[in-house]
Amino acid sequence: MGMEIVPDKMEKDEKEKDNENNKNNNNNEKREKGNVSTEIGAKINIKELHEKLGHPEEEVTKLTGNYMKLKIKGKMENCENCAIRKIRQKNIPKGPKEKLTKPGHRVYVDLTSSKYTSAGGSKYWCLAVDEATHMKFSTFLRQKSEMK
Ligand SMILES: [Zn+2]
Repeated sequence: MGMEIVPDKMEKDEKEKDNENNKNNNNNEKREKGNVSTEIGAKINIKELHEKLGHPEEEVTKLTGNYMKLKIKGKMENCENCAIRKIRQKNIPKGPKEKLTKPGHRVYVDLTSSKYTSAGGSKYWCLAVDEATHMKFSTFLRQKSEMK
């Protein structure tokens, strides 16, 4: 019997540890999620939260706020950043919706480079098609920078 077992002391130590952990947890009300540092139950303007979260949709902003136990206040107004982003997304052409009738308004340009330089020294072939008139303009260029 060389070792002496002192279970009472052990238990006390463990309990003290637990208490300390609890204290830490209580103090740990400030939490971080991404770059958003908030307190539980803190009130936050939905727009502010939306911006801090990196402009998710309104639904996502609310859900995240709920998850973070925040009290979301205010109304989701039109966000300038999001509006710009939406416009940009809309501008990505999935194909023209309507054909334009004004000549020169929309011109398709295709620049083809040739492996071989022509006798006149042109390396690039530029084809432009006007959408309205279907007029084709074809020209040979020596340099890409000649295209205007
Ligand atoms: Zn936004």
